This record gives sequence, structure tokens and C-alpha cells, in this order.
Amino acid sequence: MIDFKNTDFKGHKVIMRVDFNVPLSASFIVTDDTRIRAAIPTIKKILLDGGSVVLMSHLGRPKGGYETKFSLKHILSTLESLLEGPVIKFADDCISVDAYKLSSELKEGEVLLLENLRFYPEEEKGDPSFAKKLSIHGDIYINDAFGTAHREHASTATIARYFNSEHKGFGYLMSAEVENATKLLNDAKKPVTAIVGGAKVSDKIQLLEKLIDTMDNILIGGGMAYTFIAAQGGKIGKSLFEPEYTELALKILSKANANNTKIYLPVDSVIADNFSAEANHKIVSSNDIPGQWMGLDIGPEAIMLYSNVIKSSKTILWNGPMGVFEFDKFSTGTFSIANAVAEATDEGAFSLIGGGDSVSAINKSGLENRVSYVSTGGGAMLEFLEGKVLPGIKAIQD
Ligand code: AMP
Repeated sequence: MIDFKNTDFKGHKVIMRVDFNVPLSASFIVTDDTRIRAAIPTIKKILLDGGSVVLMSHLGRPKGGYETKFSLKHILSTLESLLEGPVIKFADDCISVDAYKLSSELKEGEVLLLENLRFYPEEEKGDPSFAKKLSIHGDIYINDAFGTAHREHASTATIARYFNSEHKGFGYLMSAEVENATKLLNDAKKPVTAIVGGAKVSDKIQLLEKLIDTMDNILIGGGMAYTFIAAQGGKIGKSLFEPEYTELALKILSKANANNTKIYLPVDSVIADNFSAEANHKIVSSNDIPGQWMGLDIGPEAIMLYSNVIKSSKTILWNGPMGVFEFDKFSTGTFSIANAVAEATDEGAFSLIGGGDSVSAINKSGLENRVSYVSTGGGAMLEFLEGKVLPGIKAIQD
């Protein structure tokens, strides 16, 4: 596998998988350019070396053919302004005769963006002949799309078999994601604390099971906390509840106990009389939520306890919000935790924010520069932390 940083790309044409699956407004304006921004250093390095780049990505979930709303042409101007300079060409089909003409005529320092890969159903099927057609666009394959590394698709995995180990590798983003997650799992300074939240236990069971092996503390928040509380006999009113997971929740608690991993559940909650931003709210013990009310955030006592644990930790993983932070009244828990993570990081802790909504929470809190690493890959980071082998990583390493 190529050592990206120390490779000179002069004279090479790189076919590069990026994750430009960005949100667009109704008038097709990019509303959050984080993912495009994340790929820029890798693209720039190749161009500065004197190479050229053919970019490929998916966007949204097209049904298997061309749909204007999912065209990557909508992101061209954003890419152009972030790259500051080079000519960017666009192929309106990723494997057409025109696309090959454009890639074969690409000159040093130029960029070609291919149309949405998922306009071909073969992409998600990991189809070898489609992957081979994509591979023809370049003589080196670089994968910098960590967000899709958990998918075994043509452009993320299958394509790698058409390049030998001296002609394929990870870009800067992919390397950073892998390095930071590996550091957290294998090289963590103790005490190590995981903060796990979000809506459902069912989404995080595998993560919790894996974390019990490596963490000293696990702080549980969000909707998933209530299945644990109910499993132990607490009254949770109308809070989120997955009855089929109560047994597993108890098993996790006893496994943690046997492993000397301390699991914390929120002692108090901010409860609401309905699921809305305008709901009435009050603070009660999480074990004693009245029948028609639901827990939508961790309470002040839980915040204090969790913050103390976080601030005495040397390594911190945060996955999932502590409450319905999209509603102001129920965002205090999540933002207080973000603050505690930032303060611990200021004091020298290593902190990784990995997975979906905790990433948007940290960005919304404006503290993203006061944590050690914010992952770009929601599902991919979750699977990596669960200990799974990601096809996009394996394909390069094979
Ligand atoms: P996840 O994608 O699993 O990290 O879940 C994130 C979502 O969980 C966010 O949209 C939150 O609004 C939601 N969430 C967090 N806490 C709760 C709660 N106590 N009840 C219902 N939904 C919650």
C-alpha cells in the first residue's frame, strides 16, 4: 500500500474515491461543505506534486438511473472555490466514452469530477466489471472516503483489486480517521471514558459490548438510557423504550460489572409532556417519570456527575447526543457534555467525537476546535469502533 504522504504523484493520474455526499438545499446549493472540505488536502497534495485527479463519489440515494436532484454537478462551484484555482472538468456519466476522453486528456494539475456513481446500480452491488471500468480512469487508486468505507461497493472496495499494492492507498482523511480510531482502541491512556447516547439501544448494542472490553467508564445518555432504567425496574413513563432489549441491557450491565467497567445511567432527567420544542418540562429522578411524561435530556445532577468523570479522563470517545438537542429546552445535557469534553481536552486528554449526531452537536456548540478529532464517518466510525473490518480499508491493505 502506498505511503500517501511520501509518494510523489508527478505524472500520475489518480482515480480517487471521495465522499461528496453533502446536503443540498431545494435550489441545489450545498448547505454543509464539511465532507468536500475534508478531501481538499489530499487532492491538493496530488496536484501540487504535478499529478492529476479523477474524483468519484455518490450523492444521495438515486433509484438506479439519472436523477437531476442527485447530480454531482450541483457541488462543482463549491469544489471549485475550496480548491482555489485548478481547472475542474465534469463528466456527466462516470463510464461513458466522453468520460474516458476527458480523463485521458487530463493534464498535470487538472481535476475531473465524474457524475454520481449510484446512477449505476452496479456501484452498490460491488460489480467487478463496473469497478474495472472505473479503474481505467487512473493509474493509481486512492480512497479518501471514510464515510463509505463500511460499504463493499464497486468504487470503495472492488476497484482496489485492479491495482497492485504500489498503486493504491489511503488519502490524508482516511489515514487520519484510521489512526485516531486505532489510537482510541489500542493505545489509550487511562482512564478511558466512552459517552454513548442517541435514540436507540438497538443501534448501539454492538458498540457497548465492544467498549466494555476497553473502557474504564461508560456514560449512557439519550433515549437509550431509558431501556436500561426500565430493565432495572425504574418507572420511565412514555420515554423511548425497547422492551425486547431489556434482557440484553441487563446482560451488558452485569458483563461491565465483571469487567470492572463502570456504567453510569443518568440519575435525573429533563422530562416533557409531549415530544416537541414547546413541551412543558421539569426535572425528576430518572427512575420515577410520571406516566404521560418522557425523558428528553439528562438532568443537572447527571450533568455534574458525567462532567466530573469526563474531566478526570485521559481518553474520551463520544458517540451520540445526551438528549433531543435539536430542541433548545432539551439541549443542555448535550452541550454541557460537549463543554466538559473540550475542557478535558484543554487539560491534555485525547478526545474523539465519532458518529452522526454527536458530530453535529459538537459543531453546533462551536467547540469542534477544542476536541482532538471529529470523525467524518458516522456509520463507518461506529463499525470501526465495534471492531468490524471495513471493506474499504481491507481492500487497500490486501
Ligand atoms: P443517534 O443517531 O442514534 O445518535 O440518535 C440521535 C437522535 O437521538 C437525535 O436526533 C436525538 O434527538 C435523539 N434522542 C436523543 N435523546 C433522546 C431521547 N431522550 N428521546 C428521544 N430521542 C432522543
